[in-house]
Amino acid sequence: MRLNEWIPRWSGASATAEAPAASSRGRAAASFAARVTFEDVSRRYGDIYALRDFNLDIAPGEVVCLLGPSGCGKTTLLRITSGIEKPSAGRLLINDREVAGPDRFEPPERRNVGLMFQDFALFPHLTILDNVAFGLRALPREEAHREAMAILARVGLERYASSYPHILSGGQQQRVALARAIVPRPSVMLMDEPFSGLDVQLRETMQEETLALLRETRSTSIIVTHHPEEAMRLGDRIAVMRAGRVVQVGKAEDMYSRPSELFIARMFSEINEVPQTVTGGEIASPIGRIPALGMSEGTKATLCIRQRGIELRSAGEGLAGRILHVRFLGDIILVEIGVSGFDVPLHARLPAGNGSWHKGAEVGVSIDPEGVLVFPSNGSNNGTLPAS
Ligand code: ATP
Repeated sequence: MRLNEWIPRWSGASATAEAPAASSRGRAAASFAARVTFEDVSRRYGDIYALRDFNLDIAPGEVVCLLGPSGCGKTTLLRITSGIEKPSAGRLLINDREVAGPDRFEPPERRNVGLMFQDFALFPHLTILDNVAFGLRALPREEAHREAMAILARVGLERYASSYPHILSGGQQQRVALARAIVPRPSVMLMDEPFSGLDVQLRETMQEETLALLRETRSTSIIVTHHPEEAMRLGDRIAVMRAGRVVQVGKAEDMYSRPSELFIARMFSEINEVPQTVTGGEIASPIGRIPALGMSEGTKATLCIRQRGIELRSAGEGLAGRILHVRFLGDIILVEIGVSGFDVPLHARLPAGNGSWHKGAEVGVSIDPEGVLVFPSNGSNNGTLPAS
């Protein structure tokens, strides 16, 4: 769901008298970063829980990426944080001060929270300068324009100050939207899929630029994204949500190496999923017996083998295999292999140029046990990490 329906009433309401004076051009002025704490926050719409007992504590200046399937409650969380939505239960604290709870509700203009929208939501009838200065309406016009020019210089767009948004490219519009959101020096910055409107090449550049600006301003930031790689690139931590709840929160390395569920393992790496059954507390697989901790006898389990955890060798080394398909994907090649003992073909991602593999070749297959994970196939319980 989109956030921008309340922009006219909301945007720019966060200019504060307590914010420090703008620093020199070339660097964005810093905010007072805030701790953001969600305590058992729920939001109900009739029978639907958009959020259910949501708990998360975000440190001042931290960048947290929210990741999860469509409808899991990401936008609702931003709406509650910004103050345009009230929680049905639970508390939201900003710097340990309750801003939403059973007995208290502070409106958006009292929260010092900035917002950036998925489609940038620039005002077409305002110049670029006025778009950015819109967030500073609490200041005298001259001062607002001075600060808006400084932030435009910081994002490299001061020459477009008197132009209108329609002449800008997607990346330039993104910079203006970012400048507008950040110029009031919000303590907390909320970004709803801020890069989804950009093409792939531009997205990477804008991610780096945005992160640099967030670091300079020291805003505590919550960024909603659908892309695990983007979350890994941007987030100090990543919170994966499902059905209104946090399923796992951690650093990128944790999400990749120690996913708590099959659903998360699938998000953070390309895996082969091999159906297995637990017998005697273990999985009997062609790569050996693997503990299936906490899983009862007869449980249907999924053995996950990372596609990058498979190496090909000469026939006779490791497990016997035959190449079924080879696909060139640029830096890597994707190889489908029939492997002795496995009922399903395995996919391996190999560096391009590392061997000349071709369809029909007999090969040896080596599987890195460190990359192997086992989860219950229904995905509802925690997985185990048998190999480490
Ligand atoms: P997406 O990634 O598609 O934007 P999301 O994770 O942001 O999804 P939300 O927009 O927060 O999800 O919605 C969470 C759930 O709450 C969905 O089932 C949605 O239909 C429901 N919902 C959100 N707002 C309302 C509303 N105003 N009235 C009724 N249901 C709502």
